[in-house]
Amino acid sequence: MAIIITDECINCGACEPECPNTAIYEGADDWRYKDGTSLEGTVVLTNGTEVDADEAQEPISDELYYIVPDKCTECKGFHDEPQCAAVCPVDCCVPDEDHVETEEELLAKQRFMHPDE
Ligand code: SF4
Ligand code: SF4
Repeated sequence: MAIIITDECINCGACEPECPNTAIYEGADDWRYKDGTSLEGTVVLTNGTEVDADEAQEPISDELYYIVPDKCTECKGFHDEPQCAAVCPVDCCVPDEDHVETEEELLAKQRFMHPDE
């Protein structure tokens, strides 16, 4: 499952550079599928949704750092544990019960975003 940042976030920014999928963005910033991945142009996600990887997407939070569920692999394929949760000083990076995925699904997402790694 993806990780989610709760409203206990203090906007310290420590998590953002640690994410191997560039799934973490500062509040009010646009996000893109292509940021930090190999995706570009029109792509079909592993869940079957067609998206434009280059297109700026609406921020998920206007006030706090946020995680894009479609880009979070719980760090599978890169690290043994979620790096955002490991560095967060207030432990507000927690499992997102609304985005539950199997390890296989998470690894497939990681390979889809980073086919050359
Ligand atoms: S769990 Fe890993 S992939 Fe997901 S947002 Fe945190 S650092 Fe990024
Ligand atoms: S490390 Fe934790 S407190 Fe800091 S910005 Fe990330 S989620 Fe918020």
